[in-house]
Amino acid sequence: MNKEEKIIRVALDTLGCKLNQAETEALTEKFLKSGYRIVNPEEEFDIYVLNTCTVTHIADRKARHLLRMAHRRNPEAVLVAAGCYAEHAANELLKIDSVKIAVGNEEKMKLPQLLKKAGLVYEDRCFISSDDYSANQRTRSFIRIQDGCNNFCSYCIVPYVRGREKSVAPEQVVTEIKAKVSRGFKEVVLTGTEIGSYSYDGLSLEGLIDIILKETSIKRLRLSSLQPQEVTPGLIDLWKDKRLCPHFHLSLQSGSNSVLNRMRRLYATDDYDNAVSLIRSVAVDAAITTDIIVGFPGESDTEFSESYDFCKKIGFARIHVFSYSKRRGTAANIMPNQISPQVKKKRSDLMLSLAEESASAFHSSFIGKKLEVLWEQKDNGIWNGYSGNYIKVYAESDKDLTNVITEVGVKRLYGGGVWGEIKL
Ligand code: SF4
Repeated sequence: MNKEEKIIRVALDTLGCKLNQAETEALTEKFLKSGYRIVNPEEEFDIYVLNTCTVTHIADRKARHLLRMAHRRNPEAVLVAAGCYAEHAANELLKIDSVKIAVGNEEKMKLPQLLKKAGLVYEDRCFISSDDYSANQRTRSFIRIQDGCNNFCSYCIVPYVRGREKSVAPEQVVTEIKAKVSRGFKEVVLTGTEIGSYSYDGLSLEGLIDIILKETSIKRLRLSSLQPQEVTPGLIDLWKDKRLCPHFHLSLQSGSNSVLNRMRRLYATDDYDNAVSLIRSVAVDAAITTDIIVGFPGESDTEFSESYDFCKKIGFARIHVFSYSKRRGTAANIMPNQISPQVKKKRSDLMLSLAEESASAFHSSFIGKKLEVLWEQKDNGIWNGYSGNYIKVYAESDKDLTNVITEVGVKRLYGGGVWGEIKL
């Protein structure tokens, strides 16, 4: 057996939130440093790691599907289910053919050592340079600054699978960002379960961002998500620095105050309105994106209409619509007046059409204007990348634009985003 044949090939896939993406990215580096070769999940692999999500029953179903597909493609491979679903219901996952290991959120970061102990690595090692990463992995990197949640919203399983809040030391965050900058990354996304609750020795999120802006030369800094009550004048003032992306994923979940109350959210629609006004007073072109749950237990037609009208009034750049999904162990799981699948479907369809209209109105408002785009890759001869306010932009160019930031003039709507003309 030659040396090349001894290298163990690991494929990693991620479901769910940006925190999971950040963790898969960190885990990938750990595998590389431990001598494994990272391959695409579509290729042949010896080990397949799926970083799962369990936020809805659909996320669970997707995880089981991906694991079964991985087994079908590579029947000899060892499959590992990691993350929130494994934390919540490891037994369900271990029933799937070839799933030999199910690890929760803490243990998953030790997978290279765990697999090594299980005899799944050879002595001969081959370190793969980070340059082998795919294009978009070199442009945008996800950095975990916090984990866990103390809020216990009535529908959410996350605090049970992620545990209580823990924040990462600012020095460590800065060191990680500097390392990403030196490897050529242009954009960093700060992620966590609840990054607005970041707190380290009295340092808040506002303080952390200020330090990052002062101590690193990262070109773009983006936040994964915030809640309205976390949007303060001091925090928003930082957006005067143009390196901060004018993109705010501001969780709403419902635009009806009585539903928000039953969800045990810590804000009302007035707080949401105030947060949006504050953002728009500093970042006029900001994209405000959100998550909405339809069909929460007891959601009446009137409450749904309130939610719909509120979303329409805000004018979101993007709405992620979720139909409420029962999660065992949460308070909402046993609430009376659960909504039928038919009503949920009808409300979801209505909210999805609003999401489409709203996104298209937001994108149209940039026609004739300029945007700065970080180009990621070329598909079928057309470049695509994202603006700071998270509009997907497409353009033609013969140049290699991978990981390059250019200005574009926006011409028209195209492919769920806009078509731009590059100004070099
Ligand atoms: S804030 Fe609420 S929805 Fe978000 S992770 Fe915590 S409990 Fe879940």
